[in-house]
Amino acid sequence: MNQLDITPKVEQLHDLLKLIERDYMPAVLANSLGAEDMVLTDLIARYYPAIAMFTLDTGRLPQETYDLMQTVRDRYGVDIHVYFPDAAAIEDYVAQNGPNGFYQSVELRKRCCFIRKVEPLRRALAGKRAWITGMRREQAVTRDSLTISSFDVENNLQKFNPLCEWSNAEVWAYLKQHDVPYNKLHDRFYPSIGCAPCTRAVTPGEDVRSGRWWWENPESKECGLHIGKVASIK
Ligand code: SF4
Repeated sequence: MNQLDITPKVEQLHDLLKLIERDYMPAVLANSLGAEDMVLTDLIARYYPAIAMFTLDTGRLPQETYDLMQTVRDRYGVDIHVYFPDAAAIEDYVAQNGPNGFYQSVELRKRCCFIRKVEPLRRALAGKRAWITGMRREQAVTRDSLTISSFDVENNLQKFNPLCEWSNAEVWAYLKQHDVPYNKLHDRFYPSIGCAPCTRAVTPGEDVRSGRWWWENPESKECGLHIGKVASIK
């Protein structure tokens, strides 16, 4: 079988990361350790170490995600700064709604995501000039207008989605060709991985993000990290 040629797209990635390192520092990769983020982790760790990385530990991540966090640290020798939710906010939420209150309604699910993800994200982005994500346009209906670069009005910094136009096959071609570590849940039909209680395996042919918050409508399935107002420059 012919190997997928991703050379032009990798060169474009280098160009963009160089530009970010030159013109948008301090910049950070919001690293959820998904397959796309591992492409960016590999490139940034090896070629653009001035770009920082952080991850959000919601307290409900699968063990496989923590395993990968440790593997990245050991293999690349890079520090992925870990942000945690505000402990008092979590205690209040659990006292009022129970540990799994997010299954009860979209509102309670979004409130949990706000406490465990959105508020820590704001702290992680404070004082930065740019953030980088591994989002791709074809991942979900909520992402079909995604652009490579836009101004994130809500967080007041530039937002880059360098893999915006990549396909799933191209992401995996990169990981395989460069022997990049990845989350073992991907081998068990989890194409998109978030918190353990809100992520499940999908069946072949299903939407990539259909295993996330599977009990909700596709239009509401974002955690709030990526729904801020943006002004596109692409
Ligand atoms: Fe809470 Fe689920 Fe959102 Fe994680 S994905 S923050 S557990 S609602």
